[in-house]
Amino acid sequence: MSAKDRRPGEPVWAVTAPAAPRTPSLQGRIDTAVAVIGGGILGLSTALALARNGIDTIVLEAGNVGAGASGASGGQVIPGLRFDPADLARVWGAAVGQRAWRFGMDTAEAAFALIRTEGLDCDARQAGWIQAADTETGLAEARRRVALCANAGQDAVLLDRDAIVAATGSAAYVGGWLHRGGGTVNPLALTRALARAALSAGARVHTNSPAVSLARVGGGWAISTPSGHVGAASVLLATNALTGALCPDLARAILPVWSFQIATVPLPERHRARVLASGACVSDTRRVLRYFRTDRDGRLVVGGKGTASPPRRASQFALQHETLRRLYPELADVPVTHRWGGQVAILPGRLPSAHQPAPGLWATIGCNGKGVAWCLAFGARMAEAIAGADPGALPIPLTPVAPIPFHGLRRLYTGAAGAWLRLRDRLDRPIGRTALPS
Ligand SMILES: Cc1cc2nc3c(=O)[nH]c(=O)nc-3n(C[C@H](O)[C@H](O)[C@H](O)COP(=O)(O)OP(=O)(O)OC[C@H]3O[C@@H](n4cnc5c(N)ncnc54)[C@H](O)[C@@H]3O)c2cc1C
Repeated sequence: MSAKDRRPGEPVWAVTAPAAPRTPSLQGRIDTAVAVIGGGILGLSTALALARNGIDTIVLEAGNVGAGASGASGGQVIPGLRFDPADLARVWGAAVGQRAWRFGMDTAEAAFALIRTEGLDCDARQAGWIQAADTETGLAEARRRVALCANAGQDAVLLDRDAIVAATGSAAYVGGWLHRGGGTVNPLALTRALARAALSAGARVHTNSPAVSLARVGGGWAISTPSGHVGAASVLLATNALTGALCPDLARAILPVWSFQIATVPLPERHRARVLASGACVSDTRRVLRYFRTDRDGRLVVGGKGTASPPRRASQFALQHETLRRLYPELADVPVTHRWGGQVAILPGRLPSAHQPAPGLWATIGCNGKGVAWCLAFGARMAEAIAGADPGALPIPLTPVAPIPFHGLRRLYTGAAGAWLRLRDRLDRPIGRTALPS
């Protein structure tokens, strides 16, 4: 079978990531202070912080660590939330809005600091994150973001056309902005490294151990897996878009949306001096965005909106192939070896949320497409709250879980929302002749 026809599946990250630590499935009954359900970046970074503080912690993961979005993501370490401080102030009030914005902008720095302190082996490269623009709207957004960053002492600069062409090697954009705190990781390697660090800090990690029931018993919580039971004083649900029947209200609070990626073979030397030579990663300012980066071996990885269902055929990746050709026409014939997808948890307000639905039960969800930096940084703060710190000090407020009405119609919602966002992208005034396909 040719690479072109290969069935979509495994993320390219598995090619270069160190092996996952050996972790058993849960057998029998154990008690712990904190049970974290979900072995992605959020669950594992919280477990790591808890264990480093001497708190007895176990992680239950339904599959292997990184089985969810964390192991499949683009690995772009992106600072910030989707919105500006004024927007956040409208949602959370001025003080919390400002605090959340500030925390968000510092997440990439915090993520790389944690990677260094813990020695997480994940091909981390802090070469910056670029938000690229090909429309007037996008450029205006870039200017606004750089001004906000300048006021807050963030290391960000505006990129004109020459600068963005030099940084990306692509003529597709007319400008954008660069945040030097951002960068890239191998996200599967990062998630596995977090699991190793949590284990060495004393946490217990059980894989292939899906939590199938969760109930309040006495003053604590009882969790069952197919072959074991956990008694815990506190529980963190870090199950993201895969929450499912374990906590139906939380599952109904998000819209799971597929995002797909493709990866080429390592680019021939003649292209490497030009294609993303700066080492920065890129996502664009479109509402239905595209994102791209290179990996440590020079593979080009391009992502964007997926179809409504899990990827099964190479033809479902038409948007990603089209984007690759438009970004780098000279790479049109470079073989694509990997195609895969993952589910992003989108909340209607497009902001992450944190909840304490019952005493000792915590949940945080909905980092949208920016969860790598956010989850790495937020885990430590969640750990403090679980350990007894004032939850009012969390970077975002605790809010009630808000199931979306008629969630069964979610495909309709996401389809309609996608069409609306695509239309708005199309109405933005393109500059020059190189606007990306809608
Ligand atoms: C294709 C794609 C590309 C992305 N690209 C980027 C990017 O470049 N940069 C960025 O910042 N963000 C990106 N994101 C978003 C980012 O990956 C997520 O926000 C982040 O990884 C969420 O981490 P998490 O730990 O909350 O969730 P997940 O990684 O999804 O982990 C949840 C875990 O819970 C487990 N689980 C679920 N139910 C149970 C149960 N009952 N019992 C036990 N375990 C259970 C699942 O198996 C899963 O491993 C991308 C997402 C996708 C899908």
